[in-house]
Amino acid sequence: MTEHAIPYYWSSVDWPRFVEDYPPPPAFTGAMASLSDEGLRELQDQRFRERVREAWNVPFYNDRWRAAGLEPGDVRGLDDIAKIPTFTSGDLKQSIEDEPPFGSHQNFALKAMASPLKIQSSGGTSGLPRPTLFDPVAWEAQAVQFARAFHAQGGRVGDILQITLTNSLANTAWCSSTAAMNWCGMVPLTTGSGVVTPSKRQLELAREWGTAGWVAFGEYLKILAETAVREGVDLQKDLRTKFVHTYLGVDVEGHLRKLLSDAWGCKVFDNYGTHEVGLVGFECRSHDGLHVNDDTAVLEIADRGTGDVVGAGEPGNLVVTSLHRSVPPIIRYDLKDLMRVSAREACGCGLRTTKLSGFLGRSDEMVKLRATSVYPRSAQDVIQGDARTTGEFLCIVETVGQGLASRERMRVQIETRGGQESAIRADMVKKLHTAFGVAVDVEIVPSGSLASRTGLGGEGKVKRLLDLR
Ligand SMILES: [Zn+2]
Repeated sequence: MTEHAIPYYWSSVDWPRFVEDYPPPPAFTGAMASLSDEGLRELQDQRFRERVREAWNVPFYNDRWRAAGLEPGDVRGLDDIAKIPTFTSGDLKQSIEDEPPFGSHQNFALKAMASPLKIQSSGGTSGLPRPTLFDPVAWEAQAVQFARAFHAQGGRVGDILQITLTNSLANTAWCSSTAAMNWCGMVPLTTGSGVVTPSKRQLELAREWGTAGWVAFGEYLKILAETAVREGVDLQKDLRTKFVHTYLGVDVEGHLRKLLSDAWGCKVFDNYGTHEVGLVGFECRSHDGLHVNDDTAVLEIADRGTGDVVGAGEPGNLVVTSLHRSVPPIIRYDLKDLMRVSAREACGCGLRTTKLSGFLGRSDEMVKLRATSVYPRSAQDVIQGDARTTGEFLCIVETVGQGLASRERMRVQIETRGGQESAIRADMVKKLHTAFGVAVDVEIVPSGSLASRTGLGGEGKVKRLLDLR
């Protein structure tokens, strides 16, 4: 590597300009409320044109866009966004394979070292995790996104925020602690997951140090609640929890939310993001959809079959264009997450943004069973709504039979608390048939037996699909 001058963090960003561009709380509320729809469109358009201009210099985009028949100048603004081909995580993976170590979409940044850089990564279900580079703007803008969420969810200056995710390869814990300390005056307490700080100790720290907010996955909040019962800690009387910032997954009927808010005696807030685009959406105290960080991302919803952009309120794959990211640029990333986006409107909390539905499922986990599209995560609602189960489950897809007689089968393993096995199985067969639109087999398994395969209690998202085909 050639010798570079040290790119100091402190001098790498024009900070006054940064906070004007991406206002942290509480200024964000007023900034969004006072911006007209045309004003927002203009702001997004200007940032979009800037990102497209940069992306033409990045081989990943230059190659793909030219292959799609585009020339620089063909995309003049947001009105032309549909001309740009979308890409998926598979394309990023390919880019990394073709041009290691970080791919043709981001190797340029490491070569230049024009600014400080950091590496985070995806969960990595098979093989190496997918790395993403961050420069200071990408790093701090995603922290501002999180700070806006914490503020909208009731986090205030001096509140202790207990972060039960580990500052490691995954991004969420880093975003949360950077957001709390740099952008909203909260005091981060990074306990890490239960693997790093045992659940019993997590509760002791919260009780003694006065934790006001938690950042945790829904599954871990359940484990903490169960630990509290076992250890004689009263979550509602012994702790001073004001809010829980979490990721509910597919919770259309609100079973998991209710379970958690009943156990914790506080408001539970759903959020949505990925390590490449940051926290795209967050819930406020009105609990009426997720507020979109409109100044940092343009969201489109694409039809799962044709890829065509669908209208407001229609479900489909979420396609995100990041408006703040230059390292690497993220332009029309099809995340394969099923969501809905609704039009911008004023909310009871004072914000005025477009809104995102909760998570509806993952397209790349879709399984075709007898010509029906089945989304394994949509079982969550049914299973977690039944108190006889622990809420934990795993969908296993496999091929049975040989040759022409072979067919695909899905078995759903469900953990129960013991007893009533055949009654629970019969109920679940019926309810899952309705949820999936096709019959599946149900297997009752003992409490705690799925954790090693779902990754419950570890880092990253819990797995719900095991594909044995
Ligand atoms: Zn709101």
